[in-house]
Amino acid sequence: MPSHLDNPIFHDDNAAREWFEARIWPDGPFCPHCGTVTVTRLHGKAHRPGLFQCNDCREQFTVTVNTVCERSKIPLHKWCMAIYLLNSSKKGMSALQMQRMMGGSYKTAWFMMHRIREAMREGKLPGGLGGQNKVVEVDETYVGGKARNRKNKVPPKTAVLSLVERDGSVRSFHVPHVSATTLRTIIVTQVNRASYLMTDESLVYPSIGDEFRGHGTVNHSAEEYVRAHFWHTNTVENYFSILKRGIIGIYHHVSETHLHRYTAEFDFRYNHRVALGYSDMQRTEIAAAGIYGKRLTYRRAGQRANI
Ligand SMILES: [Zn+2]
Repeated sequence: MPSHLDNPIFHDDNAAREWFEARIWPDGPFCPHCGTVTVTRLHGKAHRPGLFQCNDCREQFTVTVNTVCERSKIPLHKWCMAIYLLNSSKKGMSALQMQRMMGGSYKTAWFMMHRIREAMREGKLPGGLGGQNKVVEVDETYVGGKARNRKNKVPPKTAVLSLVERDGSVRSFHVPHVSATTLRTIIVTQVNRASYLMTDESLVYPSIGDEFRGHGTVNHSAEEYVRAHFWHTNTVENYFSILKRGIIGIYHHVSETHLHRYTAEFDFRYNHRVALGYSDMQRTEIAAAGIYGKRLTYRRAGQRANI
């Protein structure tokens, strides 16, 4: 069986660049400065490979302009490899492991992975979860709360709210304060009101549940996990077990500042999982398309590195 790792995109920079061009410009190249499609590929030895010029605004560009890889010194085939590795590892991959596989410094691997998580961050269109005869399971969990060493104070645990459509997608949110008001705002924005909502018996949910087609609650303390194979929250709990195994087992410590990037990573892999028909390579291709248009958001987060 040939390995995906034999693919030239992981070893050859020109192959990698053409692969990114096909992902980011599926309908042909466009100018990242003004948006026009009337652009010219510059050939010849005077130009570096992959350089284009816009016929309208006259700016020059390559496929990495306005992406998380812009101005990176890391060769594109290494970006391909890192995107593939993070997307084919179910529980994630530590920056240390990435460094061992890719070479270079720990800091480079760490920043690279955060940029890839940004590429994996998905848009959350309102009302996108659930619908007629569909079930959306909602639950919150707490992550973090582990000190780096004995001298440090234990940081408080942070709440993550996840909404999972059964046999469908997940959307996770970092919730600074768990209250009926903050949870309601997220749930009613994200979930189609024709859905059945499944939650635990927490007092924050009944009034929110009234706004949906139906609302089922599960009493965990009574071990009442499954009622008639319909009224349960097993799906969201399975999702949390993947998330927590990754965050505890692989990442060890996730600061509140970066938590939303890790949940974006786990959400993305779950939303493009094998059970929904995605291979590791297809998942990688979709993540690669996501590098475009994320650069500014990344910078705004205060994360800069000269890599
Ligand atoms: Zn232009």
